[in-house]
Amino acid sequence: MSLEKDCIFCKIIRGEIPCNKILEDKEFLAFLDIKPINKGHTLIIPKVHCKNLLDFPKAEETDFIEFTKKVATAIVKATGADGFNLGMNNGKAAGQVVHHAHLHIIPRFDHDGLVSWPHKEYSEGEMQELQKKILGFL
Ligand code: AMP
Ligand code: ZN
Repeated sequence: MSLEKDCIFCKIIRGEIPCNKILEDKEFLAFLDIKPINKGHTLIIPKVHCKNLLDFPKAEETDFIEFTKKVATAIVKATGADGFNLGMNNGKAAGQVVHHAHLHIIPRFDHDGLVSWPHKEYSEGEMQELQKKILGFL
């Protein structure tokens, strides 16, 4: 895996597009999201091009959590956030617009007015049926 010519996040990694960098090491780059859900909203990307979580480099998975915790700790302290959301859109249907894997860290504040997704109901037996189906793919 390497960098892609036309990928906007690969361009940021190559320094062809500027970003407000928060933290960088040999594997990852964290920078402020240009259109924040709340101010301090930060993106973390691997420094190799991959589309989403499913083709994320295996060797970097553990370090990714450590890197994320470091960045999230600083964001919470700097913004005075009461909490934060971690989010990852995987695929167009899930709202992914930039197809270079990235994790959103969104600082949250008590009564910040952001509403969570609506919940659905399972019909009788449907939940168990789906559970079995998922287990069949593991
Ligand atoms: P997603 O919908 O999960 O693909 O999110 C893509 C995110 O990238 C959005 O929140 C955008 O605001 C953000 N974004 C796009 N271009 C840039 C950029 N040049 N610098 C910082 N954030 C960006
Ligand atoms: Zn890329």
